[in-house]
Amino acid sequence: MKCPYCGHHDTQVKDSRPSEDGTTIKRRRHCSHCDARFTTLERVQLRELVVVKRDGTRKPFDRDKIMRSMLMATRKRPIQADALEQAVNRIVRELEHYGTDGADVPSPHIGEMVMDALRTLDQVAYIRYASVYRDFTEKGDFEAFVKHMDGGEER
Ligand SMILES: [Zn+2]
Repeated sequence: MKCPYCGHHDTQVKDSRPSEDGTTIKRRRHCSHCDARFTTLERVQLRELVVVKRDGTRKPFDRDKIMRSMLMATRKRPIQADALEQAVNRIVRELEHYGTDGADVPSPHIGEMVMDALRTLDQVAYIRYASVYRDFTEKGDFEAFVKHMDGGEER
């Protein structure tokens, strides 16, 4: 692993430890050239994910984007960072199995999956996210949506 500070190619692993749920490994590294220390994160990746936006454009999947949006939705809610991390892991793992032959993932599908994950984590966070995501600007829409959430009629 190249040193991010000086670009030196030879850095040494000083310490490795798995995350609590065992899905990632953090490695502390040291650059013998400039003495910098940094951390790398090792995570299983089953395949490269590509997202198709509504307008048909494609872009590489961005895990951090999911995490950011979930952090935003769960702000000040009593949710453990670990629980979020695991929820994102589950989403990514599921996306990696999306379709057959490594099909691209439609971006609305990701939004739906995030909503599903939030629904099981925290109702308030779920509503926050959903109201933004679906852009419920009209009162009627939102009411129909809440009804749907309560297990009522279809939206
Ligand atoms: Zn260095």
